[in-house]
Amino acid sequence: MRDSRSAALSRNDIFQDFLAVDTSEGSEVSGSDEEDLAWTTWFCKLPGNEFLCEVDDYFILDDFNLCGLRHQVPYYDHALDLILDDDSSSHGKMITDEQNELIESSAEILYGLIHARYILTSKGLLSMVNKYDKHEFGRCPRVYCSGQSCLPVALSDVPGASTVKIYCPKCEDIYHPPSNYQGNIDGAYFGTAFPHLFLMYYPSRRPKKVSSQSYVPRVFGFKLHKP
Ligand SMILES: [Zn+2]
Repeated sequence: MRDSRSAALSRNDIFQDFLAVDTSEGSEVSGSDEEDLAWTTWFCKLPGNEFLCEVDDYFILDDFNLCGLRHQVPYYDHALDLILDDDSSSHGKMITDEQNELIESSAEILYGLIHARYILTSKGLLSMVNKYDKHEFGRCPRVYCSGQSCLPVALSDVPGASTVKIYCPKCEDIYHPPSNYQGNIDGAYFGTAFPHLFLMYYPSRRPKKVSSQSYVPRVFGFKLHKP
């Protein structure tokens, strides 16, 4: 486990520039603390993964919740062991460095797919509402939405089909995430239904007034004729 964690540390090197610019609390994972972190904690703290919440182990340990995921990633059992920090079983085979890289990549995808299911549960929704209230998914860039907090959404539930977008419940439109790093996360880790089920579950978080105000282009105060 420690080997894979150390190997994956090289990912952080890629983000050095990002860290140099954004040193906000919790965005940096470094030093010996890293090896003591649970895989899920470590993964969610990686720069760019800020939209993800930590999935409880109890949810991952329930086979019912993982139904149908086995065939979506290679090295499923190894990937699951990595996520759960379970190095008790070697599955009877020696793992090469190349296979180890594949397992790490599978673990990331598997975690994302589990995450998409978890955030629709009451505990998952609670984790996400805390992030929403802190504007961790970003604010709507549209002027008339007055900095409305946004929610992550996918354009497709198929892994690898498109990256995550943010949905504004005020103008009901979608935008690119504020950071390119966050914009690289697979949309399937959140799903197409998430923001809509979230707002049904937390009706108090739905903006009171839908913004109907729109910008009108003018030249010296006069509206423009449509061409
Ligand atoms: Zn908006």
